[in-house]
Amino acid sequence: YFIAPEQFTEAAVTIADDDAHHLVRVMRAKEGDQVIVSDGISREALVRIRTLDKDLVMADIVESLPMNNEPKVEVWIAQSLPKGDKMEIVIQKGTEIGADRFIPFASERTVVQLDAKKEGKKIERWQKIAKEAAEQAHRNRVPAVEMPLSWKALLQVAVGADAAWICYEKENGLTLKQEIQSALASFRGKLTAADAELQSNRRAKLLLIVGPEGGFSEREVEAAEAAGCRSVSLGKRILRTETAAMVGLTCILYESGE
Ligand code: SAM
Repeated sequence: YFIAPEQFTEAAVTIADDDAHHLVRVMRAKEGDQVIVSDGISREALVRIRTLDKDLVMADIVESLPMNNEPKVEVWIAQSLPKGDKMEIVIQKGTEIGADRFIPFASERTVVQLDAKKEGKKIERWQKIAKEAAEQAHRNRVPAVEMPLSWKALLQVAVGADAAWICYEKENGLTLKQEIQSALASFRGKLTAADAELQSNRRAKLLLIVGPEGGFSEREVEAAEAAGCRSVSLGKRILRTETAAMVGLTCILYESGE
């Protein structure tokens, strides 16, 4: 199963570089073998290999396949930059589970400071992890891994979501579970009949904001609420930041009917 071939036309696809290498050298594919390829955005097909070289494989489309492995809602995970390799875990596991977008950000208590020189390389590595996890999970889409945002910029993203939740371990009222059904009902209610027809594929965009190891300050939670986010609990136990992201994501997908 391969995502993002170089070229994807009506009749054929081209698989290049690392993917071609993997197909030829690791999987020992031969002419005539069939594999499934996806462009990582909107097309997927069963193809038969016509010619293969170590870094270029040409294949003919045997059959277009439906893109139906994606969740019914788009979950955007905003993760305050965690220490060590935890962001990799969030991206790998979050992709397998079904997240649509990863937005790293810095908040008051974020310890990790991204070095501008190394930032590009890190994002590239994270995108590669997302692609490999999407391939292994047979996702139709590779989730986007975005450049880290400031706290202020993240709150602007929240404004563009259909619902946004800030996970706050001191929240003792609302739970994420309670929130999801009402957010989905409100999303459906906002779609007019024409929208419903035109945008039948429009999925609700749900933002989940998870704090750093030291948590969010009260001031940050208030600012998020002022930007339209709802403060939610994930339960009585305090979860590690990377666990919180996975629990929140799974809860949203489960409650939305995945
Ligand atoms: N000290 C641990 C660590 O090193 O990861 C746990 C830190 S917890 C404060 C990190 C983040 O996870 C919080 O900012 C919050 O977003 C989320 N979180 C953890 N447990 C939670 C809970 N029970 N309810 C809501 N959010 C939670």
